[in-house]
Amino acid sequence: MHDRTKTLFIETVGCQMNVLDSELVVGSLRRQGYELVHDATAADVVLFNTCSVRAHAEEKIYSALGRLRRHKRDNPEVVLGVLGCMAQKDQEEVRRRAPHVDMVVGTGQLARVPELVEEVKRTREPQYALSLGRTDGGKQEVAASFESFDPPRDASMRPTPFQAYVRIQIGCDKFCTYCVVPATRGPEQSRHPDHIVAECRQLAGEGCKEVTLIGQTVNSYKFDHGDGRRSRLSDLISRIHDIAGIDRIKFVTNFPKDMTDDLLDAVRELPKAVKYLHVPVQSGCDDVLKRMKRLYTVGSYREMLHRSREKVPGVAISSDFIVGFCGESEKSFEKTMDLVHEAKFKNSFIFKYSPRPGTKADDLYADDIPEEVKKRRNNDLLAVQNVNSLEDHKQRIGDTVEVLVEGPSKVGERQPAGVRQLTGRTMTDHIVVFDGHDRLIGQTLTVHIREASPFTLYGAAETGEVPGGELTPRDVESKAPAPRRSLPVL
Ligand code: SAM
Ligand code: SF4
Repeated sequence: MHDRTKTLFIETVGCQMNVLDSELVVGSLRRQGYELVHDATAADVVLFNTCSVRAHAEEKIYSALGRLRRHKRDNPEVVLGVLGCMAQKDQEEVRRRAPHVDMVVGTGQLARVPELVEEVKRTREPQYALSLGRTDGGKQEVAASFESFDPPRDASMRPTPFQAYVRIQIGCDKFCTYCVVPATRGPEQSRHPDHIVAECRQLAGEGCKEVTLIGQTVNSYKFDHGDGRRSRLSDLISRIHDIAGIDRIKFVTNFPKDMTDDLLDAVRELPKAVKYLHVPVQSGCDDVLKRMKRLYTVGSYREMLHRSREKVPGVAISSDFIVGFCGESEKSFEKTMDLVHEAKFKNSFIFKYSPRPGTKADDLYADDIPEEVKKRRNNDLLAVQNVNSLEDHKQRIGDTVEVLVEGPSKVGERQPAGVRQLTGRTMTDHIVVFDGHDRLIGQTLTVHIREASPFTLYGAAETGEVPGGELTPRDVESKAPAPRRSLPVL
């Protein structure tokens, strides 16, 4: 009998860590002969890589699982799996609410996915693979149960062939009171720098130009070699900087208290280090920060901002905020508005507080801010941020910047002569759109900035390749993408 190609569908919700995990899971299944399809009902294996940071992300997955209930009943041979944060945190709940799921695999066990898929097919029994909970054993034991999953990469699975996420740290030990990550991703562990450098070298060999080093608190990265030597993030960036072919090095997300001078010096001194820092502050009120257990004050955050800008002239800084956290009074919120107003962040990601069962905040404090108030505060904060973003962008009109071209913009339909609107990022992580040929994708170009909106810079590429030359302001108007709320992949 003809052996049909095995097919795989995966939906990913959440942060860069999840995007990378999905890339690696898909890579490992491809090596077993699976081909990716974009319709869940056409796949032999259907996987959901999940996020638990906010309730909304979880509900999205339960709805998707609900929609597949009948399909699974009619096609019992299909393997349905829930991976990642929800799997690690709520395996019982997943089993209860979606009993048709065959596989529940936590964040620290993803390397086992191919083996578990085979096991489901062989036995038709549900399979579970989870790491230990934070209080299920000693720290070493719990840490060991979260395996860092970084198998050989599958270049074709990356968002673009010339950009890649590289995990340098797993887990988190900060225990902010609102956050599930320490429970879903386990103890903080830094990866051996030699392994990271080897992975970056391999990526460079495959044509990757930009690496984004990822960790929950990436700037607290430290690896003790056991002989008195310690590698910090600044040391790691210096080593990656020496790799031929890698042109840009980014890192996310930073914890304010761990923004050390050696790191800022490295960002300033190393030309390939992107001059952009994502450093979430969460609130502009000390009382709220204390209840969040963020371990810094608004004053020390301001000092960090000042020091970063002094040490790295021109650095762009962005932040995250949670509005409507337990007990956030109007006065507290006003302080956050003041901070956003004065801090001049490049952009801010703003979230309404979502109480998470099992977290300290959910145990200790009432979720006492009504939804409408959270919504209003979200909008108010965003409005202040948008004014600042527009001001920042307007100051860049007339600048000439280096842009790594990422691909077509959202409105990038091809026009006559093969030109379309492309998008890319500057060395300060600003988004720039301009007209050009597809063959420019993956190249670093010089672009002259002509126009600005709160979300995007518009420019003209300096290249002999664009017939018709520069965009006029009128073209720019007509091609401008609809204003977009800037949201991270979370
Ligand atoms: N480790 C990063 C840090 O500390 O900045 C962030 C990780 S978290 C996945 C990303 C963002 O989600 C946080 O910065 C915070 O703003 C938001 N977040 C986390 N828990 C949340 C909750 N319970 N409700 C609303 N937003 C939350
Ligand atoms: Fe969550 Fe805080 Fe850790 Fe960030 S630092 S992942 S917000 S516990």
